[in-house]
Amino acid sequence: MTRGDAAAAEPLPKPAGAVAPLAQASTPPTLADSHGEHLAYVALGANLADPLTQVRAAARALASLPDCRLLRLSSLYRTAPVGNRSIRGQADFINAVAALYTRLSPAQLLDALFVIERRFGRRREYHHAPRTLDLDLLLYDERIVDSQRLRVPHPRMHLRAFVIAPLLEIAPQALIPGRGRAAAWLPAVSSQSIERLVE
Ligand code: AMP
Repeated sequence: MTRGDAAAAEPLPKPAGAVAPLAQASTPPTLADSHGEHLAYVALGANLADPLTQVRAAARALASLPDCRLLRLSSLYRTAPVGNRSIRGQADFINAVAALYTRLSPAQLLDALFVIERRFGRRREYHHAPRTLDLDLLLYDERIVDSQRLRVPHPRMHLRAFVIAPLLEIAPQALIPGRGRAAAWLPAVSSQSIERLVE
């Protein structure tokens, strides 16, 4: 995602009352297992064309990716656009984070995310353009990837309430390689406006 990371006005509600529709968040998912599966976290975001429906449908699309299974999906969160003036003028975003077990490599998973984005009609018109659907690969086991096309952990994830809050909801113990516990970044994002939607 390319939204800016500047702080906005309202305090971040604690992601309490965690909803983990597919599994209990109290049992942390384990990393790569003996079946060759890897644990990946993907951020979902949309702010065009009925974003609630887009994010829900995108979660279903993630669940049906080949060689992947959806382990957990966070609640949906409504977040105010933050960043430069062109972004602040846009509609609110709907965000969520999904945990997947996958046999795909990080690069293959990124390609699969691009395919879903395209299927949802995302146009990359300009850098901060509003998006029908944006999917970012946040974490892949505890691996660090730093290629021209892919950086994992996502380089700005720790500065974004719309990533940190839903991530902590489904993975309270999550580690961001090179940056420590995700929970330690909550204070840094606590001034960004975010609302958990109760469904
Ligand atoms: P965006 O338009 O904000 O979704 O950014 C997409 C661009 O970021 C693509 O060119 C990707 O190759 C690149 N990228 C680098 N690291 C990641 C990541 N962890 N997840 C998604 N896209 C990434």
